[in-house]
Amino acid sequence: MTNPDAHAVNFQCPNCGHDLEQSIGRLKSGEHMKCTGCGIGINIDTNRLANAAEEVRQALEKAPPEITIKFYR
Ligand SMILES: [Zn+2]
Repeated sequence: MTNPDAHAVNFQCPNCGHDLEQSIGRLKSGEHMKCTGCGIGINIDTNRLANAAEEVRQALEKAPPEITIKFYR
């Protein structure tokens, strides 16, 4: 059985559009990440993250196991 926390989420930087990847487990830990393209700090709010985790869980039941998170400011 696959652990959703170990699954990587792919998304694009809201600032420069650079492709980024982070595991659900690290996102849930509240760890901030930094865009490797432009260096901007990215903080994902917990409500959106909870939805993302659920989307990943559902995505894992289908193929392909990949989702996209969009950021809003
Ligand atoms: Zn960026």
